[in-house]
Amino acid sequence: MQFDDDAQLDTSEVQDVRGSRIPGGRATVGGGLAGLIALLLGLFFGVGPDNLGLSSGSDQPAATASSLAQVQQTCRTGQDANAKDDCRMVAVVNSVQDFWDQEFARRSARYTRSPTVFFSQQIGTACGTATSAVGPFYCPGDRKVYLDLGFFDELRSKFGASGGAFAQAYVVAHEYGHHVQDLMGTLSRSQDGRTGANSNAVKVELQADCYAGVWAHHATTTKDESTGRPLITSLTNADIRDGLDAAAAVGDDRIQERFQGRVTPETWTHGSAQQRQQWFDQGYRSGDMAQCNTFR
Ligand SMILES: [Zn+2]
Repeated sequence: MQFDDDAQLDTSEVQDVRGSRIPGGRATVGGGLAGLIALLLGLFFGVGPDNLGLSSGSDQPAATASSLAQVQQTCRTGQDANAKDDCRMVAVVNSVQDFWDQEFARRSARYTRSPTVFFSQQIGTACGTATSAVGPFYCPGDRKVYLDLGFFDELRSKFGASGGAFAQAYVVAHEYGHHVQDLMGTLSRSQDGRTGANSNAVKVELQADCYAGVWAHHATTTKDESTGRPLITSLTNADIRDGLDAAAAVGDDRIQERFQGRVTPETWTHGSAQQRQQWFDQGYRSGDMAQCNTFR
């Protein structure tokens, strides 16, 4: 995955609060049994920590940007995105949102841009207080994507994914898939409390994977506002393989095998490795969000 060196990154789409302390954040999931549960349940991309049995009802706003807001200082151009991990994520957020903005406009609908919050360790959100252990997630309450960049190391070390820049891009695009669902009114279908291979929760997750694929299909043709040229200049087959590999690594069956030693499809919330790959691939091949009807 390569970015246009001359493109200007839009850092306003990322709130970088890494290293800042959360005022009054309640450390309800910091350790002990609760921490363990969060670790086991959070090892995939959720739709908000409230689903994971974490503390909810916290009225703490997300921590405000501190002087440590690194990306605003260091991520200016596509060249920075080619050189630095965090700047690359800024560029991916820009590309994903440019695509959905243009796609919604094409359908005479309005896309609302939503920021990604880079945090470390713990964060207060409209969905409750979350620790890094829950993994990246989207909170419908404040319509933000939350990401501890340390997760990408875990994707390799803990989940056994091959890693790579596009594996990270897939994760971000999946979360924005939830934002698209939120805007379209489909996200709430996952909130019926049911689990299992055929549950709405799984169908919502697989649709987010498919939407990530739809973006990937259009990633190298989506025009960047600063240049009128695509921000992402190249996406190779190896990149796509990294994305598919990451999708499989966070499949419910893989995670259950790895962390509980047996596979229990009745508790699935995100879909199997095979399903997740299949739906990402369907989005990627078709480039058409109409092909992402996982509810059919
Ligand atoms: Zn998800």
